[in-house]
Amino acid sequence: MKKFALFIVFLISISAQLSAWNAVGHSAVAQIAEDHISSKTKKALKKYLKGTDIVQISSYPDVHYYEWYRDIGWKCSNPEVLRRKESQMDALETNFEPWSHSYTVDSLFNVYRHNREGDVYIRNAIMDLDWLIRNLKENLTTMNPEEREKELSLVVHLIGDMHCPMHILYVPQAPTGGKYSIYIGEQKMNIHSFWDSRIWKFLGKGWDYSDFASEADTASPAEIAEIVKGDLFDWASVNAKAAWPAHHLTDASRKERELDSYYPDTMRALAYQQLRNAGYRLAKVLDDIFAEVK
Ligand SMILES: [Zn+2]
Repeated sequence: MKKFALFIVFLISISAQLSAWNAVGHSAVAQIAEDHISSKTKKALKKYLKGTDIVQISSYPDVHYYEWYRDIGWKCSNPEVLRRKESQMDALETNFEPWSHSYTVDSLFNVYRHNREGDVYIRNAIMDLDWLIRNLKENLTTMNPEEREKELSLVVHLIGDMHCPMHILYVPQAPTGGKYSIYIGEQKMNIHSFWDSRIWKFLGKGWDYSDFASEADTASPAEIAEIVKGDLFDWASVNAKAAWPAHHLTDASRKERELDSYYPDTMRALAYQQLRNAGYRLAKVLDDIFAEVK
């Protein structure tokens, strides 16, 4: 039992490294969506997610990161994929890769419309999301319940991740991709982990996800209509422009950067904006998915 408990702690610690926004952020996004979906969607979610809800499933893709993968369709030479494969995915063919939780934009902040450049794999959660949403629209009622829950949780989760600044990869302008350390006062941390999890402790001591959800959910109906305009790819470009200041801190070649202790405060408005926008857009996506479902 003890060993099992330790294993669970180990799994949680791995998944914490992977998760954009971590459970607090993902749950807050799902809560905002829950507060804005139509009553029809609410009913349908109750029916199809028996015994659970979108807040609870919002972090599943982090928990099951290495179990849930899909065929990326070619022998991939991206070193990052290969490195991970060696340690985590020995049993799998080289064509398999966990669902991507991040996406890549070009120098004009436009989302790549493919996930392969020559032999190099380009992370593209937006294309994955596009596919998942279409698949759910077409097959939701006939899918097996496990697959349906998995795909719904991927949609809920990836809409959250696409709004997390460090899950946007700017190629070619910021090749470090958030892999550097920062100091805030005396505390050293990775900037990715700051945005994944530590930010919530800086922004609201002792708060839980519902506190963040109600703090972020401040837009008027007219503002919400503006935020949900366009499609996934438009939203991803808007996010990339909005999140760039969180990346573009100082000299891009340095591995360690000292940020003043005001950094979390200067990012507060961006963090709340991203939570809020993710929640409204997720509500829109779920309403669209269930619009045709009987
Ligand atoms: Zn994630």
